[in-house]
Amino acid sequence: MLIQVPERIVPLDSILPDEPLLMMGAGPVPIPARVAAANGIVINHLGDTMAQIIEQVKIMSRYVFQTRNGHILGVAGPGSAAMEMAVANLVVPGSKVLSVCNGFFSSRLAEMAQRLEAEVVKLQVAEGEAASLEKVEAYLQQHKPQVLTIVQGETSNTVCNHNLAQIAALAKQHDCLVIVDAVCTLSTMPLEMDEWGIDAVITGGQKGLSCIPGISLIGFSDRAWQHIQSRKDQLRHWCLDAKLAEQFWYKKSYHYTAPVSGILAIHEAMRLIINETLPIRYERHLRCSQALQAGIEALGLQLYVEPSARLNSVVGINVPAGVEGKAILKYMSARYRVEISGSFGPNIIRIGQMGEQCRAHNLFRTLHALGASFISMGQQLDLPAGVAALESTLDKYEFPLHPEVEKLSIAR
Ligand SMILES: *Cc1c(COP(=O)(O)O)cnc(C)c1O
Repeated sequence: MLIQVPERIVPLDSILPDEPLLMMGAGPVPIPARVAAANGIVINHLGDTMAQIIEQVKIMSRYVFQTRNGHILGVAGPGSAAMEMAVANLVVPGSKVLSVCNGFFSSRLAEMAQRLEAEVVKLQVAEGEAASLEKVEAYLQQHKPQVLTIVQGETSNTVCNHNLAQIAALAKQHDCLVIVDAVCTLSTMPLEMDEWGIDAVITGGQKGLSCIPGISLIGFSDRAWQHIQSRKDQLRHWCLDAKLAEQFWYKKSYHYTAPVSGILAIHEAMRLIINETLPIRYERHLRCSQALQAGIEALGLQLYVEPSARLNSVVGINVPAGVEGKAILKYMSARYRVEISGSFGPNIIRIGQMGEQCRAHNLFRTLHALGASFISMGQQLDLPAGVAALESTLDKYEFPLHPEVEKLSIAR
């Protein structure tokens, strides 16, 4: 006897809201129409068309990662799969790893190395602070690790390791490979893989790149690639083995069926980035985030991290006494159709500034929804002052037009 057809399954239409929610949390973020369209296509994963697309994805990735001959590979999976791929290929079981831990995601890298039976030394950075050069240097000298793991932007508590370039240089002096988690920051703020001497850069689709979740990219330096080629032991992860992935990404042959739709989507996401160019994109992210921060402070709320260690790609806001963070999120979503994020630790709520989130119209809608929601829950905030601060900060900035709008040549 067959098991009966399940009852009470309704079509998506009756689950999803009529109007999509504005995704202003810590990811996934809104995707441009061209990315969404590309994601709706399926093609042969091994044909000539795919080969041409893969070539372009690698070329565009080298620009976005800022590397001349970095070895780019894609991964079917979340940012965490790319993290695990970096760790699995560079960390030899039994070797020593220094993990700079600023919070949830950087600690995940440490855990991944531990699971590979590496000897992991954690440099625990105080909450809300960036990693200090002196401490990293002392740990490098004392422990002599083969690999260092670090996050550029710690999305969980909105801290940025601004001195990443110097940390990578120190690691290089100690002959230590550097793995950088740039899932939330890549293409939102400067990162120069070659110039800074980074050996593996990781990103996911759904954050800085403004693409879909489930497709990720990784770039390995020459030094990292030589290390991978020279390993004699068999990797424990079959899907994440870079030598096997090379079959698909460089030799037009089969490893596993590539996530073709996701690769088309990330192709389009990166094409929009190269149209915009990195300097303009960095500037757009910086200005939008600063304007949002000014707006939040003028409302009368406080930001979680001091400016010296503050991440711009995700903004953390202290939840004032007398309100529940969760209740605010629920109200904003239900009443204003704007989604922002809670947190995994500190009592903060977080607003993302990644990709399409950094558009003036999205900022106004989000700041208004935030302020109005707090006020309706009994907080005394100055909503007009917040919106005015957002406007006056944005106003000082020559706003680049959205590439799609530019084509229509609409005057400012
Ligand atoms: C989101 C995020 C990750 C994890 O990405 P998933 O796609 O959820 O696996 C890792 N690192 C950072 C910095 C992130 O922001």
